[in-house]
Amino acid sequence: MINNVMLIDLTFLWSFLILLVIGAILGILIFLAVKFFTVKEDPRIDEVEKMLPNANCGACGYPGCRGFAEALIKGKENKVSKCRVGKDATTYDPIIAYLNAHPNEDGTKINLTK
Ligand code: SF4
Repeated sequence: MINNVMLIDLTFLWSFLILLVIGAILGILIFLAVKFFTVKEDPRIDEVEKMLPNANCGACGYPGCRGFAEALIKGKENKVSKCRVGKDATTYDPIIAYLNAHPNEDGTKINLTK
C-alpha cells in the first residue's frame, strides 16, 4: 500500500519536472525568436499614417493608409496628393513639413511634392 502511494507521488513529481523543463525550453526559444527575428520598423511610418485621413479607401493605389505612408517613407511615392482624400492644409503640408524635419538616418531628405 505504501509502495503504491510512493509510486503515484514519484509519477506526479516526474510529470511535473518534465513539463517544467519543456516549458522552460519553449520559453527560452520564444525569447530567442523575439530577440533575433523582430523586424524594426521606421517610426516615421506610424507618424505619417496618423497624418493621413485614415479612410483606408485605396484611392492612392495602396490597400490602406499605412501602405501609402510606407511608400512615402521608402521613396516609392513622392507625390503626397496621390491620397485623394487628403487636403492641402490638413494632410499634405503637415506630412511634407514632418518629413523635412525628420530626414533619413543617413541625413538625406525625402523629396515630396504635392
Ligand atoms: S487615398 Fe488617402 S485615405 Fe485613401 S487609402 Fe490612400 S492614403 Fe488612405
